[in-house]
Amino acid sequence: MTADPDTFERRAAAARERLRERGDDGLVLFPSRNLRYLADHGEEPAERHFLLFVPADGEPVFLVPELSGEQVREASWVTDVRTWGDAEDPVPRIADIAAELGMDAGHLLVDDTMWALFTQDLRTALPEATFGLASEVLGDLRVRKDDAELDAMERAAAVADETVRDLRELGDGAVGLTEAELAAEIEDSLERHGGTGVSFDTIVGAGPNGAKPHHHHSDREIRPGEPVVLDFGTRVDGYPSDQTRTLVFGGEPDEQVREVHEVVQEAQQAGVDAVEPGVTAAAVDAAAREVIEAADYGDEFIHRTGHGVGLDVHEAPYIVAGNERELEPGMVFSVEPGIYLPGEFGVRIEDLVVVTEDGCARLNHTDRGWEC
Ligand code: ZN
Ligand code: ZN
Repeated sequence: MTADPDTFERRAAAARERLRERGDDGLVLFPSRNLRYLADHGEEPAERHFLLFVPADGEPVFLVPELSGEQVREASWVTDVRTWGDAEDPVPRIADIAAELGMDAGHLLVDDTMWALFTQDLRTALPEATFGLASEVLGDLRVRKDDAELDAMERAAAVADETVRDLRELGDGAVGLTEAELAAEIEDSLERHGGTGVSFDTIVGAGPNGAKPHHHHSDREIRPGEPVVLDFGTRVDGYPSDQTRTLVFGGEPDEQVREVHEVVQEAQQAGVDAVEPGVTAAAVDAAAREVIEAADYGDEFIHRTGHGVGLDVHEAPYIVAGNERELEPGMVFSVEPGIYLPGEFGVRIEDLVVVTEDGCARLNHTDRGWEC
């Protein structure tokens, strides 16, 4: 199922309702995840002004470069698409459109990621307006995934699962490959199973490199019997997967690796078991952390337990101590505890979960053990 135009109109209607409730006058978006969320537009930001005005009352208006006009008209449900030419100054056009929509002297919420190049021009065009961040309104909408989003993320997770199966099948064949070569295998596999690109830089951390949580990959060769942290993702219909397995290729791991792997698996399970509506994000972090602390590895679990995943691969809710936000059905986030022993090895295990009415469901379904 790909999101139909109604999905985007429904999201925009919900956004406008929140704008009115808060007394804000409109949103101004540029090519961003927010634009993708409301208008199904996946353009990358560039130097030309490419803006969507969403007034609290009334229909949205695109102002886009002339050369993009036709594309936007075809792709988006927004029917009012205006263009500006390269030889034209877009700033007066911004002022005119904002005045027409009743947004010229109001409180406007601009994309959090909007380039200063464009926010400066908005200030110039609209000297009477005040500004806030679009996330103040869109954050609360985006944090609860709708059916189209869940469907895309389930398919992206299924692609990641297929790749884990491929890795296990590779087994001994991974020994002697460099981390970079194994990363390339992973990326090929993701594409082969229907993913588009990677949702973040693929992590292959063999042996001591696994003790650096954000190590990417290097020319180090995979050795038999050592744990390899494999953290990767792809996108389906714009939505990412994000999964980690720590596997041992071509041999038996030593006693400490087995022990640490077991502790991390238990911590991951405890985190997942804690997830249900009304529980705080901090409580999920604590549930996973307590298992690791009880095994005396608390100081070696050096990051939060997880992060929300949606159009952005890192977004709210963050599963971290101090985050008292209560979980709600439709939230999707990772549960990814790890133990990192510098100079020796690391183990991390990560699945995405979706909060349901009475608990949660994992999006990833492959075995979490080290065996290939
Ligand atoms: Zn990950
Ligand atoms: Zn993650």
